[in-house]
Amino acid sequence: MYASRMRNLPPYLFARIDEMKAKQQTKGVDIIDLGVGDPDLPTPDHIVASLCKAAKNPNNHHYPSYAGMPEYRSAVADWYKNRFGVSLDAEKEVLALMGSKDGIAHIAEAFVNPGDTVLVPSPGYPVYQTGTLFAEGRVHEMPLIQENNFVPVLDEVPKKVLKSAKLMFINYPNNPTAAIAPNGFYREVVDFAKEHNIIVVSDNAYSEIAYDGYRAPSFLETKGAMEIGIEMHSLSKTYNMTGWRIGMAVGNTEILTGLGRVKTNVDSGVFNAVQFAAITALRGSQDCVKNACNIYQERRNVLITGLRELGFSVQAPKATFYVWLPVNNCMTFVAKLLNEAGIVAAPGVGFGKHGEGYVRFAITRPVERIKEAITRMRGLDL
Ligand SMILES: *Cc1c(COP(=O)(O)O)cnc(C)c1O
Repeated sequence: MYASRMRNLPPYLFARIDEMKAKQQTKGVDIIDLGVGDPDLPTPDHIVASLCKAAKNPNNHHYPSYAGMPEYRSAVADWYKNRFGVSLDAEKEVLALMGSKDGIAHIAEAFVNPGDTVLVPSPGYPVYQTGTLFAEGRVHEMPLIQENNFVPVLDEVPKKVLKSAKLMFINYPNNPTAAIAPNGFYREVVDFAKEHNIIVVSDNAYSEIAYDGYRAPSFLETKGAMEIGIEMHSLSKTYNMTGWRIGMAVGNTEILTGLGRVKTNVDSGVFNAVQFAAITALRGSQDCVKNACNIYQERRNVLITGLRELGFSVQAPKATFYVWLPVNNCMTFVAKLLNEAGIVAAPGVGFGKHGEGYVRFAITRPVERIKEAITRMRGLDL
């Protein structure tokens, strides 16, 4: 019944975790879910208030414009200018998205012919791979491993792969490894992409979730990046707006035009009231972002300290709300945590084969729950 492209999709490993979790829940176990990358903190009040006001205005009840309202696109351009020093033409270099997943899932359809290759980080956000497969492209996994600071070694991409490579995804601050882009990496990517004629898609969903004074850059800050690439960004993680479905693609006009043409044919844009709320988020005080980072930073410290006391050697992330923990066998580890301690963590292999040997904890639960998780882990033979 299903098309062959459906058969080609990788198995959804997290479904097995969901099953195990449901089984524990029926037994009455108090589950601590550190599995999902979805902020537990609410969307800040001033943003919600802005939505409510805009939702009551009948002018906003119609089909939105495909590319996003001019007011939203200029709010994005101004935010990029203030935050990264990147100048964008709001009309030609900004496109509204229904969350960055929307752009990531559809970009390959605009540029990848059947048989073309897409370079995808492994482990990585699964949609890089599935978007490629829906476009009938081939996936080449670029390993993100500890000894290379979880950054792909571009020289290691085989020559044969480079010949058919059309697109590449990069993602820093990184999900799931929590790594940040080392100095000089984006320069390397721009040179590589120009030499081999590859479109770069930078996924910067976590740029605002950072600690210890770290400020994540935009890929577009690098000279020449605008010629060969775009960046996907989103309000989801920055303002706790994952359910709202709003984000942006910014950068090279021709690339955005291709993505925009696909989207014109599959969706009808973001609800105008949500765009107004997003303008409030981008133009308003950024104290809410600072507060959220302070909360995550405390949780991070508690989890890292606890894990180290348990004997794990683990790095404290400078950004994202994840902790990437090396373990022996990730599925065994995850099953044990869940079945013996009621703790949900994501198995690294669910993000690609190079994620084996790791589990990902999301610090999207209150600090008391993280302390409780550590206490429960003390009783296990891990
Ligand atoms: C959460 C996430 C996204 C998508 O978020 P949206 O809600 O669709 O904007 C994109 N990339 C990565 C790496 C993510 O973790």
